[in-house]
Amino acid sequence: MITRAEQTEAQRYAAEMIRRAGITITDAEANSIEIVDFGLSNFEREGIQVLTLVQTERISVKVLVLFPNQTEPEHWHPPVGNDPGKEETVRVISGSVYFFISGEDTLKEGFLVGGKQDVYSMRKEVLMQPCDQITLAPGEKHWFQTRETGAVMYSFSTIARDALDQFTDSNIVRVTEIQD
Ligand code: ZN
Repeated sequence: MITRAEQTEAQRYAAEMIRRAGITITDAEANSIEIVDFGLSNFEREGIQVLTLVQTERISVKVLVLFPNQTEPEHWHPPVGNDPGKEETVRVISGSVYFFISGEDTLKEGFLVGGKQDVYSMRKEVLMQPCDQITLAPGEKHWFQTRETGAVMYSFSTIARDALDQFTDSNIVRVTEIQD
């Protein structure tokens, strides 16, 4: 749960980061930025800000914003019907991001939020900086995190069905409740 005031402030800050990264957006788009708390009610630590630019029955283009020291929790994009699941390429526009994927444990700069060992199981650390991009296959578990810089990223993917994403942390609910 987040309050309406928190939502408004987070949208303002996310829009500022997007514009500072050189991406031009309208005020209507700024006001449509989704603030996601994953039902954990602690979005400044575990959360993400999402601006959807394109969403058709086949593709999605989004701008993702992580505030400083914010973490997108570990998840994967499962198959839905005949669709094998979302394939996604994330490209960094500004700031630095640590991506965590399957492979040898090289976690060094990243931190497990609240010491939650079990729900951050991917420990291969990949530092991504502006112009770096990573393609995640359907079903591939991943989480990502920023430090002081925060980050602005593009996400290009096949159709996104965010509400069906699967999370390692069973306490997560993808739909954020806004309290007036
Ligand atoms: Zn993802």
